[in-house]
Amino acid sequence: MTEYPYLVAGINEAPRGVLDRHTLTSLESDERRVSFYCAAPSHADDPWFVASFVYVTNEAGSTWAESPNYPMRGGVAFWIGFRASDDLIGNQRASADDSSRFYDPGFRLRYKLRCRTCGLRLARRSDTIQADLEKLWQSGVLEVPLAAYAATV
Ligand SMILES: [Zn+2]
Repeated sequence: MTEYPYLVAGINEAPRGVLDRHTLTSLESDERRVSFYCAAPSHADDPWFVASFVYVTNEAGSTWAESPNYPMRGGVAFWIGFRASDDLIGNQRASADDSSRFYDPGFRLRYKLRCRTCGLRLARRSDTIQADLEKLWQSGVLEVPLAAYAATV
């Protein structure tokens, strides 16, 4: 498992609020992963885990996809669940009742990256965040403050 210097080094170093909000889980394997957190000055001692993305390969190809786990050093992770995303066809919100949306060539997701502590938010479509995540990974950046990411897009 990678020894990337994640924001939270381990359970013993985790802030109280983080431990109260999340159960612990483990990461399955060494994987490509890029994560976003918010530790704005107003809550620097109580970071919010915004989202984590992993690079997955399946029969449809390879893509960056949202993960419910937020990494610490050494293979332990926090369970953060899946955060809100909208289904889109082109730029229009797709009906959640229409299962044919997945087969539309214009189908994509809009991730609503959001800190639920201070309210900082950034919406990114799945097709645009793919390139961003790949660029971060290629640069060796595996964890980014949401404010810093927002400043670059
Ligand atoms: Zn925040």
